[in-house]
Amino acid sequence: MDAVAVVTRLVAVDAGSSSRDEIVAVLRDVTSCRNWLTAVEVACQSRLEELAEGDPAVNPDADNAAATNRSQRAGQAASRRARAARSAPEFEQRMAAGDLSGEHLDAFIAALAGMLAAARPRLAAVHARLAELACRMTVEEFREQLRREVASIEADDGRSRLQRQTTATRLRQWTDHRTGMVHLAGQYDPESGLVLASALQQRLEASFHAPHPPDAPDDPMEKQDFLRAHALLSLIRGEGRGSGAPEFIVVIDEETLLHGRHATSRVDCGRGIHLPVATIRDMAGRARFVPVVIDRHGVVIRQGRPVPSLEQLRDSLTTPVALQAGRSRRFATRHQRRALRAMYRRCVIPGCHTHVSKTEPHHLIDWDHGGHTDIELLLPVCKHHHDVLHARSWCLTLDQHRRLTITIRDGAIVMTTGPPADQWA
Ligand SMILES: [Zn+2]
Ligand SMILES: [Zn+2]
Repeated sequence: MDAVAVVTRLVAVDAGSSSRDEIVAVLRDVTSCRNWLTAVEVACQSRLEELAEGDPAVNPDADNAAATNRSQRAGQAASRRARAARSAPEFEQRMAAGDLSGEHLDAFIAALAGMLAAARPRLAAVHARLAELACRMTVEEFREQLRREVASIEADDGRSRLQRQTTATRLRQWTDHRTGMVHLAGQYDPESGLVLASALQQRLEASFHAPHPPDAPDDPMEKQDFLRAHALLSLIRGEGRGSGAPEFIVVIDEETLLHGRHATSRVDCGRGIHLPVATIRDMAGRARFVPVVIDRHGVVIRQGRPVPSLEQLRDSLTTPVALQAGRSRRFATRHQRRALRAMYRRCVIPGCHTHVSKTEPHHLIDWDHGGHTDIELLLPVCKHHHDVLHARSWCLTLDQHRRLTITIRDGAIVMTTGPPADQWA
């Protein structure tokens, strides 16, 4: 990367009068430049670490924090990057070329830290290939890639990892003497985390429908945090209904459930949580199973009622549930929501990464215009896109394999998507 050329272009930017394409080009420059700056910082931090070996007055973490007006914690993070870059030099080089961010490197550091010490060199050994892949991936995609790499190195479907995660479960509590506020910060292994997060979410959703306390903040993010804090209190006090076992949905294909992972396994616990198949299988007896039959396009063909054991799955399919409610119900039924969850992973709008568990069923034909609440006419869309498509009167159509076409009012096709199976590829 020619840093001088990039900076020269950035200095000349007039954002106020730029077109969309120009802005996109500027944002690319900003990103390259930021990545390059991170590489410079990493190199400097490495040098500080080197100097510290011969000079006790040099304190890399504190020197970084003081020079950058950041916390000691930020200084420590910079040192971690510097140490990681030494064992994975390709990351630093690609960062200096502007192609890879500090967050990608952080994801690599976190993946290494989550592994058994004995297995770490095997991930470090393939760092050059990973750095190359990372250049074409968002940080989220790269984390997912790393998770797969670690799983293939450990080759036990995450069981030893879950074991380590379980040992690493912590809850810290302290009082901030400046503000007088009591703080809690916890980290939980995915299995307990799923239970905890689901219980909180359930309580939180219940509180959305109740009248909000008058002192709730207006800012939507702040308000969410405020309500979550109260949801925890209400859980602990055992208030309200639904204090029983929390509900969460795990989507898993039959082959994987019975015989373990294969090339096209579908396992989705939501919330970015990953559980070993063995752990999911162990939920039998504590969980209920819903059989959903899909075709090769990922479109639901038949669905049964929830049953308490794996043995009853097939029986449940002999009396399938109705996935068409016609005009008898305005809102999607529980069965329809499950069918959508089994078919899709994300909001259907192309490029949207909102998980299907956080979507709302949308009627292809508006209820007020005579639309039916039938599975063929329901689509999962996130809150944001739901608002957008109603406000702008986008027209959505599905073909028999649920390939989606979006047209705007003047008939121009905005985008199309493949069948739901594509979301799992
Ligand atoms: Zn809608
Ligand atoms: Zn969306």
